Amino acid sequence: MKTENLHLLLGIRNLTDSTYILEVERKGLDFEPGQHILMGRADSIHKREYSIYSGNNDKYLELLIKEVEEGLVSINLKKLSDGDQVEIEGPLGFFGLDEKAVEQKKKFLFVASGTGIAPFHSMVKSIPNLDYTLLHGVRYASEAYEKEAYDREKYILCTTGDKDGDFHGRVTDYIKQHQFDKDTICYFCGNFNMIKDAMDLLSKKGFPSGQLHAEVYF
Ligand SMILES: Cc1cc2nc3c(=O)[nH]c(=O)nc-3n(C[C@H](O)[C@H](O)[C@H](O)COP(=O)(O)OP(=O)(O)OC[C@H]3O[C@@H](n4cnc5c(N)ncnc54)[C@H](O)[C@@H]3O)c2cc1C
Repeated sequence: MKTENLHLLLGIRNLTDSTYILEVERKGLDFEPGQHILMGRADSIHKREYSIYSGNNDKYLELLIKEVEEGLVSINLKKLSDGDQVEIEGPLGFFGLDEKAVEQKKKFLFVASGTGIAPFHSMVKSIPNLDYTLLHGVRYASEAYEKEAYDREKYILCTTGDKDGDFHGRVTDYIKQHQFDKDTICYFCGNFNMIKDAMDLLSKKGFPSGQLHAEVYF
């Protein structure tokens, strides 16, 4: 184990019964918004991928994590106390925004299920004046993790289990019922089935594959 990969845990913020934010030392880790790390407890050999939730100008690293029933890592990270250590490798991955498209002020469509909102949180926090629409699909409105971080008119909460969001139904139902400018660049993150269905729908609406980018969690 390399000591430079060990990061102190600074705090845990519970957002729901099963979802929390882990705040850890950054130690100069440089990343592009959208990238992820491999992380596990320092006293365990098990590591999993987690998208970086914090912005690239923030002092600390934040990760948005959902406890998965009988999961090896997500449940055990939550049992750590301030001052314990996690082991981190990375940053990894290429799920970032195209710099040219950002400079040209292109429109972005971000589609997330559950904690798949993490890389979009990092992008919105890191890059000022992004022209984005963020569709966040969850079961209940109580899972709208820190929704105040997004411009109200750019964030659309899609709920299936209650009617307390902005749209009652799946993100794919929202996509079916709405039109998007043809030059919009689309990013999808979270559950594989959601991503596949959403990409199929946008392909059928005429979006070329070069405008569709995905990060699958499970
Ligand atoms: C690139 C990438 C980035 C990721 N970023 C995040 C992130 O920011 N936040 C986050 O919470 N997770 C993220 N994940 C998922 C994460 O890596 C783990 O898979 C998750 O935490 C479960 O690990 P575990 O050890 O607790 O469960 P395991 O023991 O590995 O697995 C238990 C089972 O749960 C399934 N599973 C994984 N995630 C979920 C989920 N959210 N809901 C239901 N079932 C699930 C797995 O497919 C597996 O079958 C990411 C995955 C990838 C590939």
